[in-house]
Amino acid sequence: MTDDFDDDLTFTPFEVAPSRLTIDLGALADNWRMLKKASGKARAGAAVKGDGYGLGIEAVVPALYDAGCRDMFVATPDEGMLARQFAPEARIFVLAGVWPGVENQFFSHDLVPVLVSEEQIACWTNAVAFGDERPCALMVDTGMNRLGLSVEEALALADDPTRPASFAPVLLLSHLACASDPSHPLNRKQLETFQTLATAYEGVESSLANSPGIYLGPEYHFDVTRPGIAIYGGEAVDGVRNPAQPVVTAESRILQIHAAKAGEPVSYGGTHVLTRESRLAIVSTGYADGYHRALSGSGVPLRGTGQPGGYGFVAGHRVPVAGRITMDLTIFDVTDVPEAEIRAGDYIELFGANIALDDAARAAGTIGYELLTSLGNRYQRAYIGS
Ligand SMILES: *Cc1c(COP(=O)(O)O)cnc(C)c1O
Repeated sequence: MTDDFDDDLTFTPFEVAPSRLTIDLGALADNWRMLKKASGKARAGAAVKGDGYGLGIEAVVPALYDAGCRDMFVATPDEGMLARQFAPEARIFVLAGVWPGVENQFFSHDLVPVLVSEEQIACWTNAVAFGDERPCALMVDTGMNRLGLSVEEALALADDPTRPASFAPVLLLSHLACASDPSHPLNRKQLETFQTLATAYEGVESSLANSPGIYLGPEYHFDVTRPGIAIYGGEAVDGVRNPAQPVVTAESRILQIHAAKAGEPVSYGGTHVLTRESRLAIVSTGYADGYHRALSGSGVPLRGTGQPGGYGFVAGHRVPVAGRITMDLTIFDVTDVPEAEIRAGDYIELFGANIALDDAARAAGTIGYELLTSLGNRYQRAYIGS
């Protein structure tokens, strides 16, 4: 008896995980190479902020580094210091910029601050010791009203003879607000403004395009591109077939399958009432795992719009979420899956090869970016293809 029990313990943690992610680093590297090709003459960098779009800086950065990426963009100094461990020779740009007290983190890990204001420029140039060569970058706001110097400030600074010698920008950046909609007039307006800036900063490399920006055409490429979401398998351009390979598969274990009768309610609030004899799979994922409550089949404001909720995929069938998603558990209606093909212990795909990340995101009223970066820490992770 005890011996049998021990034999059962020979499973890997992944095989028995309540929820698990398979992250294909080969597909990730292929996606980056595709974006590099699409970037034409420009060098392709990579946005690895948001902990590598939720997939883990410690896995994503070495995979991209091995593929040849040498310009990485993180959000915060902490992310930069972590990324540095896996990308010894890369330039690591910190998009939040610098503020008093964190300068040493930049110096000790050779991080490049993307300076966003006169205040940040003063902070940086004061901290850089006279004669030291410490590169920085400059973010200019060309129409998004997010981070950055105003266009006027940036142009004045470009030919300001009194600017400190320790101000040594190596990259001029701006960010597109509407690139995922190629017909939006703001794209061209931002492009033209950025062209003026790039001319004023002659000799400094420039960078404008995120993933969808790359597909707006060669004019948008400048010297360095900054793709993010498409590397991770997400959709870049609205309404265009996604050319990226899926990178992440999220699965969760069926804990129990039970029968229920027509007329019975399902989950909190009893908002879903069964209309037929049903079989329900109770699955070990919930909003604490980033399986958003908005994916519920009923009983959340988003469903008032008449849109269906989320779907899982099991034994070759798409199965709908039934009723409200709870913190740790989600109920799927598996009535249409033949009884012999499904049992407790099987895994349901939440998104991945069969349920596109962006379709799952849309069902939650959000975008792939948010679904990826909100994956909880209860997932067992397997990295393949590296
Ligand atoms: C997030 C981000 C990117 C990458 O954008 P994607 O849409 O994910 O390709 C590029 N540049 C900046 C400044 C960003 O904040």
